[in-house]
Amino acid sequence: MTITDYFGCDVFSEKVMKERLPEEAFKELERTLETGHRLNIDVANIIANAMKDWAIEKGATHYTHWFQPLTGITAEKHDSFITSKKDGRVIMEFSGKELIQGEPDASSFPSGGLRATFEARGYTAWDPTSFAFIKDGVLCIPTAFCSYGGEALDKKTPLLRSMEAINKQTLRILKLFGHDEVVSVKTTVGPEQEYFLVDSNVFNKRKDLVYTGRTLFGAMPPKGQELDDHYFGAIKPRVQAFMKDLDEELWRLGVLAKTEHNEAAPAQHELAPIFTTTNIATDHNQITMETMQKCAKKHGMICLLHEKPFAGVNGSGKHNNWSISTNTNVNLLEPGETPAENAQFLLFLCAVIKAVDDYQDLLRISIASAGNDHRLGAQEAPPAIVSMFLGEELTEILESIEKDEDYDNKEKEVLKVGVHVLPRFPKDTTDRNRTSPFAFTGNKFEFRMLGSSASVAGPNTTLNTAVADVLSDFADELENAENFESALHKLIKRVIKNHKRIIFNGNGYDDAWVEEAQKRGLLNLRTTPDCLPYMLHDKNVELYKRHKVYSEAEIKAHYEIKNEKYCKYLNIEVLTMIEMTKKDILPCVSRNIHELADTLIAKRTIGDIDTTYEENLVKTLSVLSAKAFDDVTALGELSKEVKAIEESDAAAMFYKNRIIPLMNTLRESVDTMESLCSSEHWCYPSYGDLLFSVR
Ligand code: ADP
Ligand code: MG
Repeated sequence: MTITDYFGCDVFSEKVMKERLPEEAFKELERTLETGHRLNIDVANIIANAMKDWAIEKGATHYTHWFQPLTGITAEKHDSFITSKKDGRVIMEFSGKELIQGEPDASSFPSGGLRATFEARGYTAWDPTSFAFIKDGVLCIPTAFCSYGGEALDKKTPLLRSMEAINKQTLRILKLFGHDEVVSVKTTVGPEQEYFLVDSNVFNKRKDLVYTGRTLFGAMPPKGQELDDHYFGAIKPRVQAFMKDLDEELWRLGVLAKTEHNEAAPAQHELAPIFTTTNIATDHNQITMETMQKCAKKHGMICLLHEKPFAGVNGSGKHNNWSISTNTNVNLLEPGETPAENAQFLLFLCAVIKAVDDYQDLLRISIASAGNDHRLGAQEAPPAIVSMFLGEELTEILESIEKDEDYDNKEKEVLKVGVHVLPRFPKDTTDRNRTSPFAFTGNKFEFRMLGSSASVAGPNTTLNTAVADVLSDFADELENAENFESALHKLIKRVIKNHKRIIFNGNGYDDAWVEEAQKRGLLNLRTTPDCLPYMLHDKNVELYKRHKVYSEAEIKAHYEIKNEKYCKYLNIEVLTMIEMTKKDILPCVSRNIHELADTLIAKRTIGDIDTTYEENLVKTLSVLSAKAFDDVTALGELSKEVKAIEESDAAAMFYKNRIIPLMNTLRESVDTMESLCSSEHWCYPSYGDLLFSVR
């Protein structure tokens, strides 16, 4: 079978629906897809039945409402299609009601207080804009998940609301430019996904990887990534076999997996799909992460999605390529061919500039997690400061508009918005800077701060809402203007002047940038507990409320959940560190000391033999292990202390200020001991064993 034969064969796609549904029902569904209005129950019944027949033909016996609770991973509860009849027979049934709405017991999903545990019911509602698919013999129906009172308990609902917000405001702008032919716009996303592969046998010997997904200890190996010999290097046969399998599985599920290559660190790889509508891209990214993990296991490997599995080695991120596209297939961030198109492009560009500047804090928050804190500002990722890269050429154009000067010296006229044709921005002139958190790459923006393990729903919800808000202000201003052209010019000039501080084309990894950014008044919110409180600032709460993306209660709940999640992750890390140190590391250092001491005594019995090596090492290891023991005891005390803190944000701060520094100190002693102990005595596979485990 060729790829085109089986691509999307496990998806109940638009094409399949067209083939299998009566014409009327299909038309009704198309209307829903286009305008988002509710599907009526008769049509739902027809679709449910067709979906069931199709799924059963493909060997499925169960269905599930596949949803994305605030844990960040996907959830499913399987129900079989069987229904019993009075005469004892069973038939396979699936109704429209079951398709549209499910009612899982949701008491164990995080709700941040939105749902009291006694009101455990949650509702799931089908998202017909994302297609059902079959995974491991189960028909998965992508759904939104909300509480009894209708509050969103998931990532999909706010994302869909934000897409609606940006749709509404963009259409207002497009009307001003005379584009009445456009009836809907959608944001598009192509998330590039980084990950590590390690051998399962080596992985299983590391308690830290098993419990936390990252190494909590580990001395640097003699060889890391300094030779840059892994980046885009030849792919090892075992990894190649995995990638082939992965691509096939993803293609069956309609995921547009396109590019697979080695990344900078040893054992690190990347998968990039072809971009698609944001909510589908979000679902597909979840499917991709899940499939990667499943496929790796089949090949005797473990796929690590953690943002920083190895200290001192590049971590993994996710590059969120984002743009806005019309139903007539026009990319609104593509510089145009004519002056009018360019004026429109500049307006959308300015909207993104203003949105990123005004809502730096929310964008920072949208990618905040305990794991990502290790990555930002390390050698492989931008600092926690949000800034934008536009490239020299585009920046110069904006500067000349701001100053009413010539863009090109050879030209005599003043560069006026809507008069001149902008040059095209070839990819290689705009994409040279890889250190920017938010880069314009010719016809889209690449938001590069995302962590590898997180859902892309949150960052896109924020981005869509922020841009929608700015577009709404622009539309208010321009709709009332007496002279559209001059109002437009004035507005663009003003935005450039007021928000150019967010534009930075230099090296984002450079320390000088941190200083410069501070001078510009940009936020530098270094850790998760530092940035989360900004979520509750009035301007941010109002933004989400204004566009009906989150209610105030939902924002507070999300705030609570983000803090809780941070604390929970750290708690597991602390307990793992304590267990590893007490049960494995200190005993093995003792054994090593014992062996050295035995040698020392033996040498002395023989006579006057040099014992400097044994003596020094015994002393050093004894001092270090005593220190590690003290630290681990103190960590135990602190982890009890933090449990007594009731407010989750205060607890998060406690972890950041008191516990993390001690974890780092403990790690230092342990890593030094690792470098001094004999390999035979060390209880865990080393960084070298892990990073070069797949050959
Ligand atoms: P790289 O960033 O590695 O140089 P590309 O620029 O070719 O690679 O593409 C990166 C990602 O951007 C791909 O997933 C691609 O599908 C996506 N992309 C391209 N155009 C758009 C768009 N208009 N909207 C969203 N994503 C896009
Ligand atoms: Mg990229």
